[in-house]
Formats: sequence, structure tokens, C-alpha cells
Amino acid sequence: MGNQSKTFDLIVVGAGNAALCSAIAAKENGADVLVLERGSKQKRGGNSFFTDGAMRFAYQNKNALKPILPQLSSEDFEKIDMPEYQASDYLQDMMKVTEGKSAPELAEQLVEKSYETIQWMQKQGVKFELNENQSFLKDRVQQFWGGLPVKTQGKGIGLVEALFNKLASLGVDIRYHTRAVQIEMTNNKVSGIIVEEQGEIKVIPTKSIVLACGGFEANKEKRIKYLGEEWGGAIVRGSEFNTGDGLDMAVEAGAQPYGDWSSCHAHTTDFQAPEVGDYKKPGDIYKKSSYPLGLIVNMRGERFVDEGADFRNYTYAKYGKETLKQPEQKAFQLFDERVRPLLRTEYNLEEATCLQADSIEALVEKMGVDRKRFLETISQYNEAVQEGEYNPSVKDGKGTSGIVPPKSNWALPFDRAPFYAYPVTCGITFTFGGIQANKNSEVLDKNQAPIPGLFAAGEMIGGLFYRNYPGGSGLMSGAVFGRTAGESAAKYIHQISEKMY
Ligand SMILES: Cc1cc2nc3c(=O)[nH]c(=O)nc-3n(C[C@H](O)[C@H](O)[C@H](O)COP(=O)(O)OP(=O)(O)OC[C@H]3O[C@@H](n4cnc5c(N)ncnc54)[C@H](O)[C@@H]3O)c2cc1C
Repeated sequence: MGNQSKTFDLIVVGAGNAALCSAIAAKENGADVLVLERGSKQKRGGNSFFTDGAMRFAYQNKNALKPILPQLSSEDFEKIDMPEYQASDYLQDMMKVTEGKSAPELAEQLVEKSYETIQWMQKQGVKFELNENQSFLKDRVQQFWGGLPVKTQGKGIGLVEALFNKLASLGVDIRYHTRAVQIEMTNNKVSGIIVEEQGEIKVIPTKSIVLACGGFEANKEKRIKYLGEEWGGAIVRGSEFNTGDGLDMAVEAGAQPYGDWSSCHAHTTDFQAPEVGDYKKPGDIYKKSSYPLGLIVNMRGERFVDEGADFRNYTYAKYGKETLKQPEQKAFQLFDERVRPLLRTEYNLEEATCLQADSIEALVEKMGVDRKRFLETISQYNEAVQEGEYNPSVKDGKGTSGIVPPKSNWALPFDRAPFYAYPVTCGITFTFGGIQANKNSEVLDKNQAPIPGLFAAGEMIGGLFYRNYPGGSGLMSGAVFGRTAGESAAKYIHQISEKMY
């Protein structure tokens, strides 16, 4: 086993959003940092690279967004209608989608630090823009909804590029093709990390470690073990490298496993999407989340969820999972010509897998689902649609009556040709189970005591998300706890240095 003499202040494991924020914050606070990335330079950036860059943060009102979006003029802001999204709204959303289970200490930290962390990221060179996917044009006013009006410029690619540029300007090295495999502890404190680099096992001495190397979503065996048999067949929407190494290492070093290990974030995804995230066709182009405007049927020709139960942000994670339980792990999202112009860009006919026909009868032939049942489903649905004012930017209450499951909002008849069917399956995004950390990103042991020198951030921290999560909170959690982990590690290094002299 090779050993290297230099002792770093901090090793950051991973090179996604959480890791990069940690490394920048630690360096800013005087630490000598090295970043380890399992993938190549071409495949760096983790799941963060594949995101839309949507980030959920609390803001007082529209004016609070002006410094975040300096490229927009006052006239631009005039044409925007944007509901306020206070810290209390964010916290309420966290608790709502996690059924009250999110650990209050972590949820509060996420929410309370969200706005200032966005400003901090901006200082590091990350640029933001309006998240138009979260708005509809009504009476020439851009109406935003759902508390997620901002995303990073250039999506996840732009986000990680800005953070990599910042790290380079700070002179922080990143070692690619370097897989962390074990934490070395001496006298119950972190003293090094064992890595596998180009087939060789080496020890890198370090005073502290930030683990920011993702969950276990790309590990089929672990998915089956913790999430259930059906998850073996899920498409991996992001990085192929998040196989749970960090979780194994942390638990071996004494960390307390924490949070929802039997659940994950998932998304309805194009049936033809690649098995793992494709770095050559990046961006979040395979997800299919405009279903609240349409219908979803399975191979039996039956609906199985309330497509309009809530805005997509609050249902897509759950509905992805439901798709895995359907025959052939497949479903079809249906839209008619009336709603097609309202669909998100991922439904673009050049990119997406889509079946199209001029009649419902012709469409069902192409889909290969149970014909008789499908035609019954559509006609029962059309009869059940109630009168009301249709408005996709609010929960309009225009629903169905007398069918199960109902469609609670945005119910329009499916009757205007041409008709479109998008075949979908389930793509896993990230896992919710992690290790326990406190609000300072210190990893806790089984007695709730911090493990000296060990910190964590991003997907690795358990306890924030249970069963579901409010969209845009993954990157925000990575940034808040990543920055905090870097600051805490720098403080720890300072403290142990003082003790030595
Ligand atoms: C397609 C897609 C779209 C998404 N869209 C959004 C969105 O718009 N908004 C949002 O908030 N969230 C979104 N998410 C979720 C979001 O990506 C994650 O919550 C977030 O990026 C996690 O950041 P992270 O830094 O913890 O992990 P990652 O970004 O996944 O980084 C983990 C890093 O660790 C590395 N690594 C793994 N194991 C090792 C090891 N043993 N040694 C060294 N390195 C290792 C990986 O290669 C990777 O670089 C999306 C996810 C996907 C897949």
C-alpha cells in the first residue's frame, strides 16, 4: 500500500455541488484542501452535473430576487407575478412532503441558510436566471408558482463549471480516477483516507474529511436490498459513481445510519433513456413531468394515480415509484392537442420518445396496451370531467367526479386531435437514507457525538427527506451543508492546531 507523506488539512470526497461548496468554503477559511473524484475529468460533477439547476430557497418577496438576478431590469420584474416564499413556507413544504418526518434541526438549517447561501454561491461565480419551467403566461404576465422561481444559468453544467472555475482560481487540486474506500482513524480521530487510484491502493494522510460522495442510487444490489426488488430495474438518471461508498466508509468509521433508507427520489422518465446518466447528452432531458396536464395509463389501459393531485413538484417523486409497480414497469403519459403547447421542453418531439395519432383508436394500436380497457378508461374519464375555470398556474380545482382515482385539478377532456402518448418508466434520482449529521455538518456516532474530523454534506446526510422531497432542495441542501461542512472542517483544523502548540 503506497503512503504519501504530506498531511492535508482536509480531503473532500466527491466533486459534485456539495463537495465543491465544501472545498471552496474550507479554502476560504484557510484550510489546505484536496478534492478526490472517482470519475474522470470528463465525468466529474456527480448528479449535480445532470440537474436542471433548480434551487429552492426562501425569499421575502420579489424584490429579494433582484440582487440574485441582476441581468433583469425593473421592467422585466414588472412583467412577473411571483408569490412570496417565506422561510415558514419552505419549512411547511418540507414537512408536508415528508409527512412531518424531516429532522427539524436539519430542515430549519436548510431553510434559514438558503437565501444567504444563494448569495454566497453568487459570490463564488455561480449565475442564476428565472426558472421559466415554473411559470405560465397569463394575460401577458409571467405567473410563477410553487416556490422555485430560480435556477442556475446553464443548468447543472453551468453550476458545476462555475464552482470548478472557482476552485481552480483558489489553487485547489482535484485528483480524478481516485476512489475513496476507507477512512483511517487514529486515537478515534480522522487521520487519513485510503484510496484506490488507477488500480493502486494508497493512504493519503489528512486531519479531516468531508464526505460528499452521494447516495447509493447507482448500486443495483443496494437498491434491491434497501428499496425493494422492483428497484433493480430502475434507470439511473445521474452519476454512475454514486454507489454508496461514502455511506459504507462512514458507517465503518462509527457513523450512525440515519433517515429514510427504504425510499428515494425518482421520476417518470423516457422509456428509452440510457441506463445511467449520459455525459455526452447532458441535461435533464429525459424526465417527463407535465403529466398534471394530461393522463397516465399503464399497460392494462388503466389510470393508477391522481395526475392532478398537486403541482408536479409535490408528486413526481411518488409517481415515478408508482410506475415501477406497473406491468412491464411501463406507463404512457397522454396529452391532446389542447394541452400540448403547455408541455415542458423535454416533451419536444425531436428529443422525446412519442407516439402520435389523429384518433384515440389509432393511438391505442401504437401503444400496445389493452385496447378495450383503454378506450373505456378514456371515455369514463371524459364523462367525469367537471365544469370549472381551467388555470394551470394555480390548483384550479377543475377535477373529475365519480372515477377512481380522481383527477383533482386541471381536468380537461381528452378529445382534441392529434393525440400524443409518451412511454415512460421510472428513473431513480437519489436515495434519501444517509448518515446522521448535525446542523454543523459534523458526522455523529451512535451516541450522537461528533466523530472528530469527519463531516458530511449533500445526499450523504440522512434525515432531511422522507418518501418525497420538495423539488430544488437537493442542490440547496448540498450547498447549505456543503458550505457549512467546509467551514466546520476549517474550524476543527484550527482548534486541533491550537491544541498542539
Ligand atoms: C437528472 C437529475 C436532475 C436533478 N435535478 C435537480 C434540480 O433541478 N434541483 C435539485 O435541487 N436537485 C436536482 N437533482 C438532485 C441533485 O442532483 C442532488 O440532490 C445533488 O446534486 C446531490 O449533490 P451531491 O454533491 O450530494 O452529490 P453528487 O453531485 O452526485 O456528487 C457526488 C460525487 O461523488 C463522487 N463519488 C462517488 N463515490 C466516490 C468515491 N468513492 N470516491 C470519490 N468520489 C466519489 C461522484 O463521482 C460525484 O462526483 C437532480 C438529480 C438528477 C440525477
